Amino acid sequence: MNGGYQLTGGWIEVVAGVMFSGKSEELMRRVRRATIARKRVQVFKSHLDDRYAGLMAVSSHDLRTVHATPVDSSAQVMLRLDPMAQVIAIDEAQFLDAGIVQVASALANRGRRVILAGLDADFRGEPFGPMPMLMAIAEVVDKLHAICVMCGGPASRTQRLIDGKPAPYDSPIIMVGAADSYEARCRACHIVPRRDAGQHTLL
Ligand code: ADP
Ligand code: ZN
Repeated sequence: MNGGYQLTGGWIEVVAGVMFSGKSEELMRRVRRATIARKRVQVFKSHLDDRYAGLMAVSSHDLRTVHATPVDSSAQVMLRLDPMAQVIAIDEAQFLDAGIVQVASALANRGRRVILAGLDADFRGEPFGPMPMLMAIAEVVDKLHAICVMCGGPASRTQRLIDGKPAPYDSPIIMVGAADSYEARCRACHIVPRRDAGQHTLL
């Protein structure tokens, strides 16, 4: 894996990137291969992501799925942990609390392979939740790109749209299932309007 070298004992892998960059596909690919290698694998996913398949599966945008245990905190990962699992995969890690950093470290220290996938940046282009820390402590980080829907270049930003218009800087970060939508865009095509100080709306 990863550049042809093999890690021994426990370690942490992070799959980071913009929406539609194939993080869930890559997580599932690693999970399937670990299963083929007869490893005991447990998959978790954040409660906050309920797209397509519901809470009990990780699904990619191409709608392939694997079974997953839903969690909404790092403590729940430990509570619902299969003590026999050798490989622990966690999707949508950006939604979890900072405790996931300790949890991932503890599991790796106990010889587990820990794979975390998540958005490295929010719609503003700023670091998202525990992802920066996870990327710092991981042995291996893969940063994936999507295709910019505006220019066709490599996309590194998630463009949030509300009613088809770029979402302002001060709109709430998490609105899963709301009427807003997201696109993959490159740095040049990514737009985050800033409101003047003192101007307030409910967005
Ligand atoms: P992520 O977990 O990073 O959001 P997924 O693994 O769920 O990504 O989905 C990746 C898939 O999304 C791609 O294989 C492709 O079929 C589809 N897709 C849709 N829009 C785009 C885009 N703008 N760039 C790249 N892939 C896209
Ligand atoms: Zn672009």
